[in-house]
Amino acid sequence: MSGDKAKQETRFQAVGVSPGVARGALYVVRDDGDEIPRHRIEASEIPNEIGRFETALIQTRSQILEMQERIAQSIGAKDAGIFDAHLLVVEDRTLIDEVLRKLQADLCNVEFVFQEVATHYAHTLSQIDDPYLRERALDIQDVTRRVVRNLQGKAPKDFLGLTHPHILLAHNITPSDTATMNREYVLGLATDLGSRTSHTAIMARSLGIPAIVGLHNATEKLETGREVLLDGYNGLLILDPTPETLWHYGELEHQRSLVAEKLTGLRETKSTTRDGRHIVLSANIELPDEVEAAPRNGAEGIGLYRTEFLYLNRTTLPSEEEQYATYRKVAEQVQPHPLIIRTFDLGGDKLAGALDGGDEMNPFLGHRAIRFSLERPDIFKAQLRAIIRASAVGNVKVMFPMISGLEELGRALAVFEECKTELKNEGSEFDPTTEVGAMIEIPSAAMCAERLAREIDFFSIGTNDLIQYAIAVDRVNERVAHLYEPTHPAVLRLLKMVADAGHAHGIWVGVCGEMAGDLALTPLLIGLGMDELSVGASLVPRVKRAVQSLTHGECQKLVGDVLELDTPSAILARCTEMAQAHYGELLG
Ligand code: PEP
Ligand code: MG
Repeated sequence: MSGDKAKQETRFQAVGVSPGVARGALYVVRDDGDEIPRHRIEASEIPNEIGRFETALIQTRSQILEMQERIAQSIGAKDAGIFDAHLLVVEDRTLIDEVLRKLQADLCNVEFVFQEVATHYAHTLSQIDDPYLRERALDIQDVTRRVVRNLQGKAPKDFLGLTHPHILLAHNITPSDTATMNREYVLGLATDLGSRTSHTAIMARSLGIPAIVGLHNATEKLETGREVLLDGYNGLLILDPTPETLWHYGELEHQRSLVAEKLTGLRETKSTTRDGRHIVLSANIELPDEVEAAPRNGAEGIGLYRTEFLYLNRTTLPSEEEQYATYRKVAEQVQPHPLIIRTFDLGGDKLAGALDGGDEMNPFLGHRAIRFSLERPDIFKAQLRAIIRASAVGNVKVMFPMISGLEELGRALAVFEECKTELKNEGSEFDPTTEVGAMIEIPSAAMCAERLAREIDFFSIGTNDLIQYAIAVDRVNERVAHLYEPTHPAVLRLLKMVADAGHAHGIWVGVCGEMAGDLALTPLLIGLGMDELSVGASLVPRVKRAVQSLTHGECQKLVGDVLELDTPSAILARCTEMAQAHYGELLG
């Protein structure tokens, strides 16, 4: 942070993860931890504690109803229905009576008593081998946090509470927070934690919300209501911006809008290099309602549909029918272009409310994605059947996340075939030639790509994970974010290995990680032979312009040159030099 008294504005330096500039009042959400102090009360204070408890329950009930209403409007009535179970918790007589009994017996503050009783209750339910009761346990945990916050007089940590446009500042924002926030009131996002490839950052880019991360402890220093300017390009949060600063940003926005205007003319043009190589440009989406941004920006379909996002906040898992209805609608919207549906990539920083993931020491190395799906054939099959059925109405392809090797891929393909056989026997309509691909995002898969390529129709390289695993840098940890280097020579070699292996076996190879949208690296990816680049929809026009400015030949030469270089910075400098020479106006 650097203060500047003369200008009377304060600048907080962070990392820009979603472009754009936002100006408005701050809304600060703090993480206060789960520690609830215990203190003794006199018997005479019991009525007062009961009164506080009743008020908190009423308050919680109305917050849940309000949230339900908002979700019904933004995502759909079905998703809003999950809060019915939360409402039952605040009316649960057994739970409430036990709190009242213990309050008399223990004579201590009601938030402590409530937390203790509710936790015990939830734990008991979670131990019973019954999916319904396990879900109730999750509902109780969620509602308990709300009631306790209300007893403590704290604002609920849900971003749906926003009723006016604000710039949100939080210690951390999870992907599930982002999925349910009331987007029309979120002008910008800022967090103490986070990094460029965290799913929250990816989501902010998809939604077109300017965002910055890595502010360290800004939530401790800033208050709700303060006037700020958020610069998502340069990672700045400017408190009380001066008229000069506002003028400067006004100018920059004007120039950017001129560039953006020029780019809109590219929508109907092809993403082909000057020497005639076509690179398929597709869009990544997280939520189904983002799909219309793809054709608007001139994308040739959806290269990555992260299906798990729609379900992160739910306490029940979606049925096959529900998923079918969603996938079918998206496939219809995207056709005749391809829609590549990735099966659930739960785990890591995406934890679904409906699944008891349990705490893991290293969640990104843990029970995630295909590992989870293969252990839960009920969930995996419901999803695959829904996807396969959607192929009857669109150009649907399936892809598996986090494949680590041949055996795992074989198991996933076996379940896929089993689903097709079942559907055929049931007389369901589907496209029997539906393509199947593997995400290559674990170094072991990249190294075995030669072997994997024989089994499937395409590779899509998930560079966000591939980089974190290749150089052991946690993609969401801001303390090591400076070590996360897409141009590391090892990453380059892995990318080349995958592209070469895919092409040797006649399958196409794409990149759907954030690297695909990094304009400085477009020459590198084209030179490596990538057939497809899938990026956030808003980036499509820029990447298209970059592709149209280059020749495949010069990009291949660049790859030859940079393979001789030893450091990430030298490689990046060479790539940037080429990008700058051809489309410098897009890089600024
Ligand atoms: C990736 O890892 O690059 C990827 C596209 O998947 P996700 O970001 O959802 O992990
Ligand atoms: Mg990934």
